[in-house]
Amino acid sequence: MSETIDIHAPGVEVKKSCCYFCHQNCGVLAYVKDGKVLKIEGDPSHPTNQGGLCTRGNIALLHLDHPDRINYPLKRAGEKGSNQWERISWDQAISEIAEKLNQIKAESGAEAVATAGGTLRTEDWARRRFMNMFGSPNGFHNALLCWIPTFMVETAVSGWSPFETDLADSRCVILWGFNPGASGMPSMRGYSDLKKNGLKIIVVDPRYSETAAHADLWLPLRPGSDTALALAMIHVVIYEGLANMEFVNNWCIGYEELAQHVAQYSPEWAAEHTWLEPELIRQAARIYAKSSPSNIQWGCTADQLGKTAGAGMHARAVLRAITGNLDCPGGDLMPGPAMNYVTDEELEANEWLPEEQKAKQIGADKFKLCSWPGYQLISDICKETWGKAPTAEWMCEAHGPSVFKAILTGDPYQIRALLVSATNPVNSYGDAKMTLEALKRVEFMVTCEYWMTPAALYSDYVMPIAGALERPTIHNNYGVTDSLLASQRAIQPLYERKTDYEFWRLLALASGQDEDQWPWETLEEVFYYVTYSFTSLGYQFNSYDEFVEKYRFYYPPLHYYKYGNNGFCTPSRRVELKSSILEELGYPSLPTWIGPAENEIDDPELAEEYPLVLTTGGGFMPYHHSEQFNISPLRFLRHDPYFTINPIKAKELHIKDGDWCWIETRRGRMKQRANVEPSVHEKVIYAQRGWWYPENGPEGDAPYGCLESNVNMLSSVDDEHCDPIGGSWANRGLLCKVYKVKYGDEPDIQFSIPGSSKVPGVTVMPSDQRLAYELIPYNPLPTFEVPEGLTWDKGTKIAWDLERGLAYDPDSGWLYDPETSVFFDLETRFAYDPETETLVDEAGTHYDMTTKQPLGDITPAVADVEGGE
Ligand code: SF4
Repeated sequence: MSETIDIHAPGVEVKKSCCYFCHQNCGVLAYVKDGKVLKIEGDPSHPTNQGGLCTRGNIALLHLDHPDRINYPLKRAGEKGSNQWERISWDQAISEIAEKLNQIKAESGAEAVATAGGTLRTEDWARRRFMNMFGSPNGFHNALLCWIPTFMVETAVSGWSPFETDLADSRCVILWGFNPGASGMPSMRGYSDLKKNGLKIIVVDPRYSETAAHADLWLPLRPGSDTALALAMIHVVIYEGLANMEFVNNWCIGYEELAQHVAQYSPEWAAEHTWLEPELIRQAARIYAKSSPSNIQWGCTADQLGKTAGAGMHARAVLRAITGNLDCPGGDLMPGPAMNYVTDEELEANEWLPEEQKAKQIGADKFKLCSWPGYQLISDICKETWGKAPTAEWMCEAHGPSVFKAILTGDPYQIRALLVSATNPVNSYGDAKMTLEALKRVEFMVTCEYWMTPAALYSDYVMPIAGALERPTIHNNYGVTDSLLASQRAIQPLYERKTDYEFWRLLALASGQDEDQWPWETLEEVFYYVTYSFTSLGYQFNSYDEFVEKYRFYYPPLHYYKYGNNGFCTPSRRVELKSSILEELGYPSLPTWIGPAENEIDDPELAEEYPLVLTTGGGFMPYHHSEQFNISPLRFLRHDPYFTINPIKAKELHIKDGDWCWIETRRGRMKQRANVEPSVHEKVIYAQRGWWYPENGPEGDAPYGCLESNVNMLSSVDDEHCDPIGGSWANRGLLCKVYKVKYGDEPDIQFSIPGSSKVPGVTVMPSDQRLAYELIPYNPLPTFEVPEGLTWDKGTKIAWDLERGLAYDPDSGWLYDPETSVFFDLETRFAYDPETETLVDEAGTHYDMTTKQPLGDITPAVADVEGGE
């Protein structure tokens, strides 16, 4: 019987909370009584969702007190990964963790401690503050796959990244590798409304996606070829005289050199790389350029192209500028840093990190723009322009995959400790096998989490973290716009959960950092400090809670043509089509074609073995990244992982809808089920990301099925496959093949460590080779006793009689032939004859089912039965 809830009963309070299951940060009203959340619903007055909540948002109460949640600090009580834990107090956990970190710092330097983070839904400025004061430059996120390189390239070229949406006055929008129809319910609703008012929508996506279905023009390009498309569109704009020369002459530098440079990138040239008809490219460029004000919306594809990503971002920044669409009404607005509240960067205390420690940031020597070398150049100009800089926690990171490699190889030095917050690296970072191995081997690991994930499982301590209803939040777009969304906590954290901010503060104090450097005990105190400056704008409040109650959000009026005052925030104060910052860092100063990490033109031999092109990394409902796989109603909606394959290709490969298939790149393979539909090109495979199976449990060497259907089994983090500018790795445009899962298939057990190694016993080979250096047994254990003579197959999770091709059914105790559905006796391997209810051998002799003795000629008995005696 369900409990009846009266939300109007005396004592019921309404709290203005939010949904934190994705970045949209929809407003939630939480009805609370006696510290219990009775009900949630979308906040109708919230500017993002106006009362709506998507499938994910609606499971907030299930998430709040889910039986799998971690509610108390846990300390490892057995072997790493054995899932044996001792419940301890926060005091004990924090003091032991601090002691160990200080020991590592004393022995190996602060840089031997690294931190891994998730997406913009934790207090990452606090993590950065802790690390800066501790002295380590090695914090990182997987945000390199999500906008950070885009922000940095666009800021290098034009002084800031367009991030503020001003579509009401737009006549055309390009949704480039962005599928809000699947990943952003509030945004999609906005586009649909605007389309009714005449907005032209161009969608660039290899898939006929939910969003492409609403497009005026759809460009189904080869995955990973976006840079070629952008370059060809620049070519069309320049050589068809569509550039806005007034803007170019007044505000851009490098146009002449750009024009000469892109002469080579005609639509005809691009057709080979993009598989698009030249005329379609021309049409897109013309519509975009002639419909000004136009707008190119960011999608995370831009950051997931690996090697070719930075050049593509540069090309898109150029497109916006030469068409005069920067910072004008309906164009791409460049808000600059938040000037009316305290930004994350101002809370990070970056000035505390010594220069010699910045120089040790892992990956900064290879990928220079989103690490200290590039960040320093950009933040210096920003401070000169506005007195504020972009947040370093996101824009200036160690290179995550290189940190995992450093754990395994000791190159450039040994990383000894990893603090993990709000991320499941095996499923969210590239090269899952290598990442998993790094988690297993790191000397000391602490994870702040909601659930037991593979990372948490291999940790020494797991700390219970409060979710959205249990904490206040501020959503501020990383501080790169002046707007802010505020929410309050609905209830105090349940059990012994704490916010991640409290974790970092307690750890800071226990490891010797000064209390004066951490003056705010609670997040409400931090956020009051952050928003206090609004009082000078006439806002009246005495606490953060009161700010939320009275105001809830801050959206200042949009400002246009800001460059008219002091020019653009670049070294020349102009849009640098030819970028001096990229040049100073040693990169091409003009956007220059580099093919995708793997492609059929540069490597036809590889394409012969792997003839299909993989795209992945896109969001899909009801999951966000690798989250929510524990929530059974959501699993009910999408129980199994699916990849999409064109019907023509599926027929050629004898693949039927729903078949389990291996998808393989030269790095490994994983399996998903076939979704046969014509939404992708015959040569394209689209695979879902994020999949793991919490229900499979922690046993085995790949716990929770974390490698089984994990698309990061296929992705590459080899240095030469990563974007040399930003360091992001490729999820799009990798070469692959697909084939049906068969019984007896060997599971994928090999991993490689690209680069060099100082670890004894680890043989290192050139990173483009795919051979194993050491085996990781992939070993899901059987849940029943495997009868003697049968072989347990970890791939199909079936015990087989390999000689006869018979599968074992543990429920009945019989063997069966999957092709014919005939059952066989386990002991004798004789077939079951349902007509006579006997066993029968290959010669046709019948046997008694119980005694297994021959019965001789049983025809009369059957005749008797048939004749009714
Ligand atoms: S998960 Fe859904 S409800 Fe929650 S913030 Fe995202 S779009 Fe909004």
